[in-house]
Amino acid sequence: MQGKMMHRPLRIIDILAFAAEVHADAGIVSARTEGDVHRATYPQIMARTAQLANALHGLGVGTGDRVATLAWNGHRHFELYFGVAGIGAVCHTINPRLPAEQILYIIDHADDRLLFVDLTFVPLVEGLRDQLPADLRLVIMTDRAHMPDTPLDALCYEELLADQPAGIDWPEVPEDTAAGLCYTSGTTGHPKGALYTHRSTVLHALTVPLSQTTSFRAGRRIMPVVPMFHVNAWGLPYNAPLTGMTLVMPGPNLDGPGLFSLMDAERVYSGWGVPTVWAGLLSEIEAQGRVPEGFADLVVGGSAAPRAMIEAYEARGVTVSQAWGMTEMSPIGTHGVLPPRMQDAPEQTRIDMKCNAGRRLFGVDFKIVDDDGRRQPHDGQTTGELYVRGNTVISEYFENPGATRAAMDGEGWFGTGDVASVDPHGLLTIRDRAKDLVKSGGEWISSIDLENAATSHPAIHACAVIAIPHPKWDERPVLVAVPAGEDRPALEDLHAHMAPHFAKWQMPDDVIYVDDLPLTATGKISKLTLRERFADYVLPELREAT
Ligand code: ADP
Repeated sequence: MQGKMMHRPLRIIDILAFAAEVHADAGIVSARTEGDVHRATYPQIMARTAQLANALHGLGVGTGDRVATLAWNGHRHFELYFGVAGIGAVCHTINPRLPAEQILYIIDHADDRLLFVDLTFVPLVEGLRDQLPADLRLVIMTDRAHMPDTPLDALCYEELLADQPAGIDWPEVPEDTAAGLCYTSGTTGHPKGALYTHRSTVLHALTVPLSQTTSFRAGRRIMPVVPMFHVNAWGLPYNAPLTGMTLVMPGPNLDGPGLFSLMDAERVYSGWGVPTVWAGLLSEIEAQGRVPEGFADLVVGGSAAPRAMIEAYEARGVTVSQAWGMTEMSPIGTHGVLPPRMQDAPEQTRIDMKCNAGRRLFGVDFKIVDDDGRRQPHDGQTTGELYVRGNTVISEYFENPGATRAAMDGEGWFGTGDVASVDPHGLLTIRDRAKDLVKSGGEWISSIDLENAATSHPAIHACAVIAIPHPKWDERPVLVAVPAGEDRPALEDLHAHMAPHFAKWQMPDDVIYVDDLPLTATGKISKLTLRERFADYVLPELREAT
């Protein structure tokens, strides 16, 4: 028997319309590329978003058209998220850190009609101009006074909005309509597109705050350091208006001192981003001897948070939790808030728990399988490849049947490429990315575990473990490390420090000191680049043998 309840489509624009009415005092603070700090309430942003939507109609943008952005976190980018989706078009966020040929590939693959560009990225677009589609229209995201002197034939964002009506009848888009498009950085092959719907985006916006309970409270301020060009800034541009929080948008200035001063001045309560940015902020916190005023909650994701980082922030009164997820999952699949029974546990037990990837969100199902695709128990011990299923997970890649076939299994689950275990309470432990595991003598060694142990040594600032080929053992782990100061501990010292946690055969065979580690376009340590850089490296043991 069918129930007798209304079926209203879940629409992205309704999140902003709700905030403009119910959370009218909250809004967006943006450190802009022009150098100023801009403030607007959600009602003001709603009016500007309607103006933008009217302007987009005027430019001929229709249902399903792709509108691309090359932009930092800021209120104009937020207006594009809502205005583009609001009229039934698709907001395609492009990661400006991708190599030029990948940017060209995805603009072509997505068939973008319009490209909105922040001032910072105008030179990038000038360099690509000859290779971009001739009919791609450009809009520079600034006002007339700040329009750059450029050979580009580009419109000015503020002029586009200026004479438009501040109201619009938002169309009744069906909830399965595409709303956002984001390509994964693709370490091999072409980037692959995740095409989010209104429904998946609204469900993600609803479920994350229910679990990540330390971060969300009306009236507080939240800062996505994770860029809006990377998986919708993990959904924060939707969570914040929904929960009545003010977004503090950091714009282009993401180094430790820049983040510290904005967070301090704007009393940011909660910050979200990848470990590398929090390492930068931590150095500034140590230099100043205090945390930014009001800062109390830190969410780390994108790669495993080093234990030493969790301890350092917690020791300064900042609650740390990890979130795990991926572009294909909108992106969040877990939250790291401790269960109530752990709140009063001893400090080290609580930190141990926080070193895991967290517990699953409602609506995200996990399945661990062995090499033959057989389901493994969720006993917290057995490891295998993690598959996921849920309303916020892609069903296929955007126009890429080959990649879809490779990622989905026969039961319709999506393969994450992560090797993990799950405990009976839905707690996820990521052992490694399948391609980063080190296979030694038929046994797997987790690079994440070794990195965690090595960075807890006071002389190690950051590190990565990579697999080096070995004739007898297949592969052996080698530690590539950035020292914290002048001291460069010998391999034996590091072994002594790591010994309590590992068997002897699991320890790295060598340590190589470097000045810095290469990063991917999403701000993670690029092991692919490291593997290429050390392709000709020979293990000490083999050097001695020759
Ligand atoms: P990309 O694949 O382009 O780097 P994603 O953000 O989609 O971008 O990366 C997803 C991957 O990042 C996951 O499959 C996982 O390997 C890793 N990851 C994300 N969050 C965590 C975490 N908290 N702990 C460990 N690994 C993580």
